[in-house]
Amino acid sequence: MNLHEYQAKELLASYGVPIQRGVVIEDIKDLDSAVSKLKEETGTDWCVIKAQIHAGGRGKGGGVKLAKNMAEVKEHANNILGMMLKTPQTPGGLEGMGKLVRKILITEDVYLPNANGEMDIKEFYYSILMDRERKCNVIIYSTEGGMNIEKVAEETPHLVHKEYIHAHMGLQGYQTRKIAHNLGLSGAAFKSMCKFVASTYNAFIGSDASLIEINPCLKTSDNKIVAADSKASLDDNALFRHPDLAALRDVHEEDPTEVEAKEHGLSFIKLDGNVGCMVNGAGLAMSTMDIIKLCGNDPANFLDVGGTADAKRVETAFRIILRDKNVKAILINIFGGIVRCDRVAQGVVDAYKNIGNIPVPIIVRLQGTNAEIAKELIDASGLDVHSAITLQDAADKVTELVS
Ligand code: GDP
Ligand code: MN
Repeated sequence: MNLHEYQAKELLASYGVPIQRGVVIEDIKDLDSAVSKLKEETGTDWCVIKAQIHAGGRGKGGGVKLAKNMAEVKEHANNILGMMLKTPQTPGGLEGMGKLVRKILITEDVYLPNANGEMDIKEFYYSILMDRERKCNVIIYSTEGGMNIEKVAEETPHLVHKEYIHAHMGLQGYQTRKIAHNLGLSGAAFKSMCKFVASTYNAFIGSDASLIEINPCLKTSDNKIVAADSKASLDDNALFRHPDLAALRDVHEEDPTEVEAKEHGLSFIKLDGNVGCMVNGAGLAMSTMDIIKLCGNDPANFLDVGGTADAKRVETAFRIILRDKNVKAILINIFGGIVRCDRVAQGVVDAYKNIGNIPVPIIVRLQGTNAEIAKELIDASGLDVHSAITLQDAADKVTELVS
């Protein structure tokens, strides 16, 4: 589950990470009170208006604007709230439809001179995530933060540093100092950075996050380290331990079909191909997608119907898959371990009859308990359903029917 920037910042702040303070609004009529509240807290007139959507690159798409006075705040807030924001990361990229901005964050400007009037800021890149190959967490950081980290990683990878955290030992003091040193910091900024690393790491562990990314992580002119942006992804499987964080889910940001599937207990992920898949078990679903690809087609989705592939679930799964107009065939691949294949076959036939008109061919491969009876059931149904016993056979049939 992904968090909005303002939610991720609140999470970080609750672990003592210094953040750029701000107020979030959904309705433009709350703007005046939000800005006066912020001014009271921060004492600055300059603020930044930031679109809250689940996509990065907002700065590039016009979703982040600096305002030097109230007139500019109003202008930018009116433009950004309710806009369809296109960024390199929204669906279809800068050429796509964009995403509707339902909330904006008004933050204090932290890019300010110090008490002596000197401007001395630095934008760092900083993130914590899991390194699956090394089976431990890693902190990735760079002096070259800001809006072009992808370019930095591609063209000057030696400027991107990695610090691996031992799974049992946890983050060590020398590691926080190494990071601060590699970022070229000294004095007060060095100390702030060490604290920043320790507290962000606590936030990462404490919230069961799979990613926390802070870009830019700002060294201010008065040598504080502040999260000026933040992105957080939490592990869905651990959300039951964090009801307060689970409540932050914003369904507007999720694919509506995926949300509906979740409500019915199906794990569904939409993809771009032409062959719909309905499978029981995540591993089997992965190998089904592999064999579809090996036979020259592309999976239209990942769908795990789970252990109880009964008629109701099969029917919901059909309806969800069929909403995708790219789907030219549906491959059902069920292994009858606990579930009996004849039950599933009956489920498929019933679901098919309930839905009425399914415009694409269906290939069913049932293997395991009562597979033969299941095949007979399907063959005798008289519907546009083709049965197969082996996966290869099923995939070949798909190719034949799609082309
Ligand atoms: P992103 O483009 O979606 O990653 O959004 P960011 O929150 O990173 O904002 C984009 C850019 O806005 C940053 O890279 C900064 O250069 C700039 N920015 C962010 N906060 C401030 C601020 O307080 N003051 C000023 N002047 N610029 C800011
Ligand atoms: Mn950013």
